[in-house]
Amino acid sequence: AKAEGRNQCKFYAPVMNESVQHRYSIESRLRNALEHGEFLLHYQPQMDLRSGAVIGIEALLRWNSSEEGLVAPDRFISIAEETGLIIPIGAWVIAQACKDNKSLQQAGVPKLPVSVNLSARQLTPSSLIAAVEAALHAARLLPTFLKLELTETAIMSRPEEAHGIFLRLNEFGVKFAADDFGTGYSSLSYLQRFPMGQVKIDKSFIQDVAHNSNDAAIAQAIISLGHSLGMTVIAEGVSSPEQVEFLRARSCDAIQGYYYSKPLPLAELQAFLMPDCQ
Ligand code: C2E
Ligand code: CA
Ligand code: CA
Ligand code: CA
Repeated sequence: AKAEGRNQCKFYAPVMNESVQHRYSIESRLRNALEHGEFLLHYQPQMDLRSGAVIGIEALLRWNSSEEGLVAPDRFISIAEETGLIIPIGAWVIAQACKDNKSLQQAGVPKLPVSVNLSARQLTPSSLIAAVEAALHAARLLPTFLKLELTETAIMSRPEEAHGIFLRLNEFGVKFAADDFGTGYSSLSYLQRFPMGQVKIDKSFIQDVAHNSNDAAIAQAIISLGHSLGMTVIAEGVSSPEQVEFLRARSCDAIQGYYYSKPLPLAELQAFLMPDCQ
């Protein structure tokens, strides 16, 4: 799966390298993509390290472009953010993730929270709260089966707005996770103000965790910090048995990464979650 990812990067490099003048054309292509239903979600399952059970799924956006095939988010999210298109695209992601999660539940899959990534630009209280409530209502999904992933960078770019959103939706029953944890500058202070249920150790610390003592120390510190704040700790980008052993030995709660599963289309995820039915 790693080799696949690398090929994808090469193949889609032109999208990323578009010059500033061509950003407009990407913008209009993204607008078109939204109108013509070219976005889809893949889902990556998360595994509890003690029981081996699936504990959640993360929705990851893909663009099925007529010109380029399946395009990964790193190629277009930043342009969507700069142009503000991330707001309608993000609302579509929230609605689709709720809908897909409900359909998994109706198929008899054990109920799991679905995690959705939010960009800073989406942290406008009135529109985000409305989008979340509308999505839950339309899908008839309980709020507790939706989790919002916020990075420190997003929170710190709009701390007041983020806090209002957090308080309101948290009270409503929606869950939160601190994404890409450890990569920002004021990580310790924001966790106090945003008592989220879950902290996700960024994959940049996991990559060499079994061999690099600095990365190991950071991962260990995040696990201790998370636990002492009553949070569950999940490691991102876990792809090897050595990483799993390291994390298990240090009481990390859960993992997400190619070791367990790559992100899957909904039908494949359902098969993954219900192996007996295949
Ligand atoms: P992220 O939130 O940190 O998501 C995890 C990324 O790591 C995903 O990349 C996932 O496919 C990749 N990954 C999973 N397991 C492994 C592994 O074992 N090794 C390695 N090296 N990578 C692994 P993806 O799907 O390309 O998404 C990239 C980023 O795009 C995400 O990073 C997130 O920040 C952003 N993104 C994705 N979907 C959305 C969305 O709906 N809205 C917004 N605003 N951002 C999104
Ligand atoms: Ca994430
Ligand atoms: Ca990350
Ligand atoms: Ca991220």
